[in-house]
Amino acid sequence: MSVLRFDNVSKQYPGGHVALSDVSFDVEAGEMLFVTGHSGAGKSTLLKLIHLSERPSRGAVLFAERNLMKVRGRRVALHRRDVGVVFQDHRLLTDRSVFDNIALPLILRGMRRGEIGRRVRSVLEQLGLGERERALPTQLSAGEQQRIGIARAVVSEPRLLVADEPTGNLDPTLSAEIMALFASLPERGTSVLIASHDLGLVKRMKKRVLVLDHGVLADDISPEDLADE
Ligand code: ADP
Ligand code: ADP
Repeated sequence: MSVLRFDNVSKQYPGGHVALSDVSFDVEAGEMLFVTGHSGAGKSTLLKLIHLSERPSRGAVLFAERNLMKVRGRRVALHRRDVGVVFQDHRLLTDRSVFDNIALPLILRGMRRGEIGRRVRSVLEQLGLGERERALPTQLSAGEQQRIGIARAVVSEPRLLVADEPTGNLDPTLSAEIMALFASLPERGTSVLIASHDLGLVKRMKKRVLVLDHGVLADDISPEDLADE
């Protein structure tokens, strides 16, 4: 089944700047892929259309075969439960513990305390952060902070995780660790779409790559094509 479909999507920002031009692609459930391109190519815009921070000017974005154009008002929050988002600067609450940061999305949807505790601890274990639940984000290393950002995004068990330059602030070793973590998500049922301008890192992952060039989908490279290089 298709988890995400862009159907001839264009996005023109107020003021006339065209950020995406007639972009079409499909993501299958359980797939991991990258979107790359130079700065300003439209990567962030593409992700924003998926978590409904922006709306297309033309064309349709379908999520689990539902047209996001019809998702308005209260339903936007419901949709966002299905889409986990990881930012480059992780955006953790600095005055709340690691546990609270990860629990927040579950508290907001009214989950029972016991269930929240179980879920948060399970995610922390999986990410190798079991000892860290009482720490404040500022007491953690950059790599640990980014892992907390990922934990918060996956704790709701979203169908799709989107990440915008998630390794932008990390050194190559930590970047590789974070990428390995993303690569483990599809087998747990979460598809993964990562925007990155780090072409070297992207190629090493040997996953499908969408290449944006000035808002145009210039290439859609399969893992098999990358393996040939
Ligand atoms: P190679 O060095 O193996 O020839 P390239 O880096 O030239 O590979 O290109 C591989 C793919 O990545 C091509 O499809 C190309 O369009 C894309 N690409 C090349 N440079 C960039 C870039 N700066 N940003 C995004 N995509 C790029
Ligand atoms: P990338 O993530 O690849 O760097 P973006 O999606 O951020 O690209 O931006 C694509 C283009 O759209 C850029 O030219 C950028 O300046 C423009 N853009 C992005 N956001 C806005 C906005 N809110 N208003 C106007 N133009 C924007």
